[in-house]
Amino acid sequence: MKKLLPTSIVGSLPKPSWLAPPEKLWSPWKLEKKELLEGKQDALRIALQEQQLAGIDIISDGEQTRQHFVTTFIEHLSGVDFENRKIVKIRDRYDASVPVVVDQVTRKKAVFVDDAKFLRKQTNKPIKWALPGPMTMVDTLHDNHYKSREKLAWEFAKALNEEARELQDAGVDIIQFDEPAFNVFFNDVNDWGMAAMEKAIEGLNCETAIHICYGYGIKANNDWKKTLGTEWRQYEEIFPKIQKSNIDIVSLECHNSCVPFNLIELIRGKKIMVGAIDVATNNIETSEEVATTLRQALKFVDPENLYPSTNCGMAPLSRNVAQGKLNALSKGVEIIRKELAI
Ligand SMILES: [Zn+2]
Repeated sequence: MKKLLPTSIVGSLPKPSWLAPPEKLWSPWKLEKKELLEGKQDALRIALQEQQLAGIDIISDGEQTRQHFVTTFIEHLSGVDFENRKIVKIRDRYDASVPVVVDQVTRKKAVFVDDAKFLRKQTNKPIKWALPGPMTMVDTLHDNHYKSREKLAWEFAKALNEEARELQDAGVDIIQFDEPAFNVFFNDVNDWGMAAMEKAIEGLNCETAIHICYGYGIKANNDWKKTLGTEWRQYEEIFPKIQKSNIDIVSLECHNSCVPFNLIELIRGKKIMVGAIDVATNNIETSEEVATTLRQALKFVDPENLYPSTNCGMAPLSRNVAQGKLNALSKGVEIIRKELAI
């Protein structure tokens, strides 16, 4: 990336209301079959246009073609029963009705590759594609077959690696794995979670990123954050392992969070997507607020490794708020670029 401080979003943007009811997760599609396909492609075009208008440098799909960042990928795998669901507690936090693993899981067909090819045709800018991480996938279903979180994660990692290689061949520049579960199950990260992540990125030549946040701005996550005290040191438990990994970019929640910035020192040398936009509030940041967060991060990240971004996905927000936050990100970054140019 030649431009200093290239901006990007973590992943999701709100969908148009004609495609899926806005401001909620797992929002059902309003269209079917061929119309749904066309509708998703039109939504991709809009997501691209909104990012370009805001001056975002690395383009994402805004997750317009998926219902949810984890379950849509799982839906495309064999061995998973979506009919007879079970209630599980996601990330030890909130109940959700999830599918059940009933047999060996395999990826029989590509999941997002056609969507990535479609987006690739629409822009010459670098594009980033998000996939769920193996541990977060394990945490978003019930396993009746492997009876081992580690074994199931390994199978998911193999499926993710197949998908990632095809996304790379489709022209995706950065493949990002979303692993919010890394912030909860530290021992598992160190025992097998990072190994599964390495399997998922094996053999890739494009850049790879891991996104580790404190979750979407939904009530269960916001309530959980209130229990974490005045300093959130979860990253400290996992950064040493990430530092040694082959992952190129680490995406973090920073703005309005209680994460001490100096923890970023533990992964110096990695590129850091610094979350400078809070996705848990409708308040739109001022450009100076964004700049303040980036200045704090710059004490621990070399400027050429700083990738300003959002804390997490913006699917639960209104479209106006999301657009305002995209603009704020760009304007705040512009302030820092000028300061660094002096
Ligand atoms: Zn996130």
